[in-house]
Amino acid sequence: MIKDRYDVVVVGAGPAGSVAARFAAVEGATVLMLERDREPGIPVRCAEGVSHNGIEPFIDIDKRWIASQIDIAKLTSPNGESAFMHNNGVGYVLERRIFDTALCELAAEKGVQLITKANVVGLIKKNDKIRGVKFRYMGETKEVECDLVIAADGTESRVGRWAGIKTAVSLRDIDTCVQYTLAGLDLKRNTCEFYFGNEVSPGGYIWIFPKSDKTANVGIGIAGHLSHKKGPKEYLDEFVNKRFPNATITYTVYGSVPTSATLKDIVKDNIMLVGDAARQVNPITGGGVVQVMVAARIAGRVAAEAVKKGSFQAKFLKKYRREWDKTLGNTQKVMHSMKEKFLFMTDERFNNLVKFCQKIPAEKFSLKALFTEAVKGDPKLMLDVAKSFVVSKMKLK
Ligand SMILES: Cc1cc2nc3c(=O)[nH]c(=O)nc-3n(C[C@H](O)[C@H](O)[C@H](O)COP(=O)(O)OP(=O)(O)OC[C@H]3O[C@@H](n4cnc5c(N)ncnc54)[C@H](O)[C@@H]3O)c2cc1C
Repeated sequence: MIKDRYDVVVVGAGPAGSVAARFAAVEGATVLMLERDREPGIPVRCAEGVSHNGIEPFIDIDKRWIASQIDIAKLTSPNGESAFMHNNGVGYVLERRIFDTALCELAAEKGVQLITKANVVGLIKKNDKIRGVKFRYMGETKEVECDLVIAADGTESRVGRWAGIKTAVSLRDIDTCVQYTLAGLDLKRNTCEFYFGNEVSPGGYIWIFPKSDKTANVGIGIAGHLSHKKGPKEYLDEFVNKRFPNATITYTVYGSVPTSATLKDIVKDNIMLVGDAARQVNPITGGGVVQVMVAARIAGRVAAEAVKKGSFQAKFLKKYRREWDKTLGNTQKVMHSMKEKFLFMTDERFNNLVKFCQKIPAEKFSLKALFTEAVKGDPKLMLDVAKSFVVSKMKLK
């Protein structure tokens, strides 16, 4: 049953929360995880695309949460020309609802206690120190004490702000997204598609991620500062009406994705931020699932070490920051600089880029080749890109 006190309380049972909680518990910490929704993974606010190599270190691959296996990426430029990438490893379109629950179950197996429908509404502070959280549960406000709070409460995170951490990012670094799950399509199930261009999706892209040969997540993310005149829904509707005029919408998602570098501060005394709450998403693709799990594994291990040592000061918790930067945080910074070059290109540059990609032999066409060409003319960034690809390949596991 619920105790009055734990070593660690994790707020939010998304991928970041479940993985941080699991790794803290594996190393011996007592952990409570609080989730405001009635079950993990709902509502799904994700296009559900991940790489096999990214998730495999965290969970045994299970058909239950895989909708489709992806082998090919199709990139389409503003003039309608396409290039096909066959060389970027295996990907999946997930069933996030089942995947997120499976991650929670793994955490529970390691001793994490989960309470759903538990909405965290504030921090308990004593002498200005964080000592636990308050949450609403079954119509009552409850309190639970802890030495360390891990805020994994997603892109709209409030917990970090309550702790006095600056979590705001500029509009330029927030993609506003709309996504439909469409039925009645006729698609290649192993191919995900990306559409670029300032008339199609300014500062972002449109994606088609098939969940079967008849259904797909079709969505758009556009840079926040470019969405005031025409919103993402209008761009998406135009695209869908043209490409899939007879489709039926079975599910609609509105959401935002932080596409900045990681926040300056992700720890303070007695608190760590992880996942979307810490802005640990890939700024170019907007993919967060794998990145946040990598961050959460580090956070969970450092949390357990803090418990063993009885050290909950920011000075000790900054170990998490240092390890994150070495693993993916520095790469994310490079990706953020690249985003400016890549997603804010002129249509002519996009057209030329896809033309260039068409000429690369299929076995050599990879993301690295694409990004290197995209930042051509900026030697420093080219070097950073090359380095960060090597680092992220080595450190993802
Ligand atoms: C439209 C869209 C498409 C995307 N597509 C992809 C994609 O294809 N691939 C990819 O890798 N990433 C994608 N992402 C990003 C990805 O969804 C996130 O990066 C990922 O879910 C982050 O995980 P998280 O655990 O940090 O946060 P979340 O998954 O958002 O989990 C946070 C959890 O905290 C809970 N919570 C919040 N506040 C409280 C509170 N006060 N008390 C208790 N619980 C609380 C929430 O209910 C939620 O369960 C997409 C995002 C969007 C919006």
